[in-house]
Amino acid sequence: MLERPQEELLGLDLQELTAIAVEAGQPAYRGRQLFEALYRQRVEAVDQITTLPNSFRSELAKNHAAGLPQTQKKFVSVDGTVRYLIGFADGESVETVWMPEGDNGEQGDGSEAGEEELSGGPPLSRLAEPAPTRSLGARQGGFKRATICVSSQAGCAVNCRFCMTALLGLLRNLSPGEIVGQVLRVLQDQKVSPESERINLVFMGQGEPFLNYENFMKAVRLLVAGVGIPESRMTVSTAGIVPRIRDFGGEQVRPKLAISLNASNDATRDQVMPINRKWNLATLLAAARQFPLRPRERLTFEYVLLNGINDSEQNAREVVTLIRGLNAKVNLIALNPGPEIPFSTPGDERVHAFQQTLIQAGIPTFIRRPRGRDIYAACGQLKRAEVVQISA
Ligand code: SAH
Repeated sequence: MLERPQEELLGLDLQELTAIAVEAGQPAYRGRQLFEALYRQRVEAVDQITTLPNSFRSELAKNHAAGLPQTQKKFVSVDGTVRYLIGFADGESVETVWMPEGDNGEQGDGSEAGEEELSGGPPLSRLAEPAPTRSLGARQGGFKRATICVSSQAGCAVNCRFCMTALLGLLRNLSPGEIVGQVLRVLQDQKVSPESERINLVFMGQGEPFLNYENFMKAVRLLVAGVGIPESRMTVSTAGIVPRIRDFGGEQVRPKLAISLNASNDATRDQVMPINRKWNLATLLAAARQFPLRPRERLTFEYVLLNGINDSEQNAREVVTLIRGLNAKVNLIALNPGPEIPFSTPGDERVHAFQQTLIQAGIPTFIRRPRGRDIYAACGQLKRAEVVQISA
């Protein structure tokens, strides 16, 4: 007889877990217990859910797995960044990156996370709280905040010419449980809890979140309601899937939005991001202008600087014209190089000159620090590279 495949509980919401409990003849509150066990306690297996009666536990374990994914490999950078290769039940894997001090990505985005980066500490309002969140700076190893970079698909279909993930092609979409599971696995390994420590999430790993929209959004809701990470500490980046930008603007619960601009005119963007032929700059910027921002929120535009391709003074002035009047900031990223990437990294002086042009035009512009380049953990380098393995 064929064994029934185990259904993974991770990825189910409170309603779905409650339905499972009720179907098994249990009271509805067992659903809440399952929800807490999966997302707060991060149980590895159904039989660890000790809040449930033994009989229900063993009944459940017959055809359900908890679904927490495994760490297949772990690479540690000299700068403290950790790149995890996280494996799922079918053998597929993605990368998830732990950045103990972030990468300056949240600076000036109008959020609490961004304010903390600018001021180097929590905002005053937070200091006045009766039970202030314990700062990660108090931990041994001394980091103040941490950012987890999460993948939304295995591989990617978008084919940006400067990105190593594109070389994998699209392998498959991740389920909501696989997206949430990456965060849980990293929190587990780093022994941190979002209830007491400051964790930011960026959906900027492998994949295009807006091409796996429903699963991505369900994962966001579970991360907020289940894991306890506020949406104001999350940012999703898109290559510019315009219809989904519109949908995203209408979501009740949503992260902040970052758009990968990466070129200042259609001719260049067509070349470096072929998706521009489907949704060009005028269409993309129109969607950005219509995007409903919350009070104090800002859009982020990311701009990968490619030596001699999109990094001139003229390009900087074109960016100013494109985004003038928008409540937005720009994050500049000097290309993280990689084998098979046909571009080079501009020198620091070009990066700074580009930044100055934008700043002088009144656009808050920040330079993203490359994190974990030595272990292929930086932006655009997630391609499951096998470099020196530190521990399994
Ligand atoms: N698919 C989404 C999410 C990935 S975010 C998106 O495109 O936005 C990854 C970020 O890293 C994007 O802003 C992308 O433009 C940038 N990036 C990709 N390749 C890079 C590279 N080689 N060096 C620096 N940044 C890169």
